[in-house]
Amino acid sequence: MQVTAAAICPADDAAARAAKIESLRRGLLRWFDANARDLPWRRIRDPYRVLVSEVMLQQTQVDRVIPYYEAFLTRFPTVEALAEAATADVIQQWAGLGYNRRAVNLQRTARAVVGDYGGVFPQSVEELRRLPGIGPYTAGAIACFAFELDVPFMDTNMRRVLHRWFFGADLPKPIASERELLDLAAAALPPGNGWAWNQALIEFGALQCTARKPACVVCPVQAHCAAFPTIQAVIQALPTGVRRKQEGPFAGSQRFYRGRVVAALRELTSEEHANGVSLAELGTRVKPEFAETDLDWLHGLVRDLERDGLAAIAEDGAPAYDATEPAPREMRIRLP
Ligand code: SF4
Repeated sequence: MQVTAAAICPADDAAARAAKIESLRRGLLRWFDANARDLPWRRIRDPYRVLVSEVMLQQTQVDRVIPYYEAFLTRFPTVEALAEAATADVIQQWAGLGYNRRAVNLQRTARAVVGDYGGVFPQSVEELRRLPGIGPYTAGAIACFAFELDVPFMDTNMRRVLHRWFFGADLPKPIASERELLDLAAAALPPGNGWAWNQALIEFGALQCTARKPACVVCPVQAHCAAFPTIQAVIQALPTGVRRKQEGPFAGSQRFYRGRVVAALRELTSEEHANGVSLAELGTRVKPEFAETDLDWLHGLVRDLERDGLAAIAEDGAPAYDATEPAPREMRIRLP
């Protein structure tokens, strides 16, 4: 039987999908808060600067783009300055970035904004799409990153992350269509928070859920990712040395699991935070193959975290901690 995208993504189970999206939103936005790089185009909402950054980023790595972005904006600080410049000067300024047609197209866009819109960028995706040199991704990125509109759009990183979350591994080739992924991008977008969400998806795809080496073992949304079991199986089948490299130096260590527990506690819903979660519930969130026999190990670990002020334990009627005794099953754990 052929496995279709619809069979893997529980589109027919609306409640399960809504709960999954809620968990992904919480996990991804927290990850972004902790890991987002301080990039110059994230500090501004000027559509011209957003446009320049997006065009430069299309085929070039972030680190390489930053100095070119700064220099380009020093030379052409406004959309009018770019529109009025000689094309030869724009191409000269672009030297070193490659894909020089981007420079020419960028200036065509600037000239249309100045000529047709008096230098004021339109805000809607539909109008932005009518500008020369602007495709669906760039239109969505300007609407969202400059005007903070809640619009879905898709680049390579976002496509890969959404596919892995909802449809499973994207290799040897993706099974979901562009339409299905765009629908999911729209459904997952948290209302009123599109800017952070779309930035976070791009950043997550660039730093954590990368094409070749996704950091699954330390991924904060691992429990909600449809690709994780497959990727994990591939990692486990690798020779030990290669696997260690893939998993990172701390995978499987106490330090690693301390981090996982704190990350899981950060992800509790407000109701779970109020009541705490049991050791068994917590265990399944920090260790995919968690078993009854792991309870005592996890008990010791959360006690350590409690001592360090990183976890709070409610233990109505539970005896004082004794490492020689079995872990009390009634205890509830949350962040302090
Ligand atoms: S578990 Fe792996 S594949 Fe899934 S979102 Fe995390 S890093 Fe990506």
